[in-house]
Amino acid sequence: MSKHLAHKEKPKKKPVVDYSAREIKIPEKRQRAKAKSQAPKQEDSFQTAMLNKTLDRKFSVSDLALTGIALILLVVACFLPTSGLVRLLTFLVPFLLAGYSYLFEAFQEAFMGIVLGRELIVTVAGLMAFCAGSYAGGAAIMIFLKLSDSVLAYAEMLQAEKVGSLYTLRPERANLVKENRVSVVKAETLEKDDVVEIYPGETIPTDGVVIDGTSVLDASALIGSSLSFPVAAGSKAISGCVNTTAPIRVRVETEQKNAVCSTVLRSAENSWMHKSSQERLIQKVISFAAPALVIAAFLLAIIPSITTGDWRTWLSRAAVILTVSQLYSVVQSVKLVYDSAAAYAAARGIVFKGHDVLEALSRAETLVFDKTGTVTEGRYQIKDVFPKGVSEGQLLFLAGAAELNSQHPIAKAIVAASGAYASDVQVLDVEETPGRGVCAFIDGRNVYVGNAAMMEERGIEYDLPTVPGSAIHVSVDNRYIGHIIVDDALRDGAFDAIEELRISGMKTSVLVTGDVHSSARKIASVLNFDLVKAELSPKEKCSAVEYLMTNRNVNTTLAFVGDGICDTEVLKCATVGIAMGCYDKPEAVDVSDVAILAPDIHMLPKAYQVAERAAAAAFLNTIVCGAVKIMVLIFGAAGVFGLPFAAFAQFAAVAFEAFNAMRILRYEENRQKPRVKWRKERWKNERSDESFI
Ligand code: ADP
Ligand code: MG
Repeated sequence: MSKHLAHKEKPKKKPVVDYSAREIKIPEKRQRAKAKSQAPKQEDSFQTAMLNKTLDRKFSVSDLALTGIALILLVVACFLPTSGLVRLLTFLVPFLLAGYSYLFEAFQEAFMGIVLGRELIVTVAGLMAFCAGSYAGGAAIMIFLKLSDSVLAYAEMLQAEKVGSLYTLRPERANLVKENRVSVVKAETLEKDDVVEIYPGETIPTDGVVIDGTSVLDASALIGSSLSFPVAAGSKAISGCVNTTAPIRVRVETEQKNAVCSTVLRSAENSWMHKSSQERLIQKVISFAAPALVIAAFLLAIIPSITTGDWRTWLSRAAVILTVSQLYSVVQSVKLVYDSAAAYAAARGIVFKGHDVLEALSRAETLVFDKTGTVTEGRYQIKDVFPKGVSEGQLLFLAGAAELNSQHPIAKAIVAASGAYASDVQVLDVEETPGRGVCAFIDGRNVYVGNAAMMEERGIEYDLPTVPGSAIHVSVDNRYIGHIIVDDALRDGAFDAIEELRISGMKTSVLVTGDVHSSARKIASVLNFDLVKAELSPKEKCSAVEYLMTNRNVNTTLAFVGDGICDTEVLKCATVGIAMGCYDKPEAVDVSDVAILAPDIHMLPKAYQVAERAAAAAFLNTIVCGAVKIMVLIFGAAGVFGLPFAAFAQFAAVAFEAFNAMRILRYEENRQKPRVKWRKERWKNERSDESFI
């Protein structure tokens, strides 16, 4: 597992988790942002160096055509009744036609002393084949290598096109307004507090706040499904959204490089920098297997030739082993699949921050859901008001005034009902406690608005609610003045989405919430959650997640799904932190491992399925590629496979890998049903896990 997920791995010893403890250690702030801004690290392995080199290779139709001609010439040459020098020449033509660029690079590698360079090794193999009299084998090595490169380059080109289509999300230019004059500047030079004008049809260049004008923003390109919303002065302007109806002026809040649009693009482009454990393992194996195979090839060329005197046979068998030693395609096969999955998902508004994240999510059997805004709409409604010693209007007004600046959905509902916006009440020293509520100094009085836990912490006696819903209690100068009952609706499609996750492989579903037990239980029973934990502060949610992480099955992971409001710490401490509906919450996009931009719970099983498909395809590619290499090695060394067949078999494996990766890029969700994953029946007693409940 790569560095940035490493700290989330299961601790070796099972820690004792004390839920009553308020202070728990939250893992250090992650270094991802820093890592991402750094240039790709140079790796020692020569195979990796070679791998990066092949990535530079562009797909070219003329190269492919030339290789096709070389292949035809090779077939023709096989049937021509030639001999001697003429025969050599008839095979040399296709050899040179397909391999001239490799020969050139081989010279460069030899000159620079890169003895294990891919082109050098392959050229040596080709020349060995010619020396051994296997002219067809020599030409086939070059032709099939070139074809393999073309196929891989083609798959990479498709993937790059997918990423390229995302560039429209990040406009290069912006209309900067300075002293009432508009000038076009590079969007990357925009700074905080700059004002930009955005005309209809243009994309918002960076995150900011609308200060003038009213319009409708279309977020479809960013989030991958249709969504448009009205904006006016004070609304958030999210980069990547298209302004549709009228010009607006936006005050810049974030530089473009840190804006949501840049995070999406960066993740699609750089996911390969965070390698999966499979890739790391393959690279480790290759780093000793490749030189070992080269040495074995030379030993096979020398020792049996001397002992048996049949140097032609052993030289051509050694050439087969040299071609097998080029293991870069095994790494490439996995990388291509994960890259394709990340690009495919990014185009649908699902941002995977690395190959390791895709791999970890594919192994997630326990999914922990935050309630508000994740499985519920996050749009509270006021159901009832129970004032005590004050009028209903006074209770709502004081609560609304205290909540004016809070982003919490409960606050929004109370503010909307209170009329506090229109008043000129003086609100000072506002302090919000996540999972509890807010306190503020209003017209010289200390007002607390929050749940029962907040009242208990303040030592204020409160009335127990008599109707269903979540009670938000209000106190003024430590005097209880009543409570407001709020309720939130289940998200549209939540039931189907959770069921789809179960079909796809989720074994244990857990609901954690800061809300009261009654609301939590109601939601949990509708959605059939296995475990529920209510009335938790964000830190206690972290404890719960860590407890489940230490008690999970080996080889499985845990994912936490939140909405990015008051749960960023939990997103950080879960193995896979998934932020849902976070297109307008740059912080959540930044701290999560998977950012699902659309506020659509159906995207969750999609993300899970993309990860599973990618992991399955990567595994299949490794097995196919590895098996073909081993077969060619054994049968080639034994003389069963001739050089042309050995070269062809390896090309066929590469073509299969590329096809597998391209399938991910072109996957049509609606055409296929989710795979029902076979799993062993484990954790049968989850519901009676008393230590958790
Ligand atoms: P969830 O865990 O369901 O996502 P939160 O952690 O956001 O919910 O909030 C948990 C509880 O904390 C809420 O149900 C509410 O009782 C209380 N709370 C949090 N923020 C506020 C606020 N701004 N005003 C009033 N109550 C709040
Ligand atoms: Mg929440």
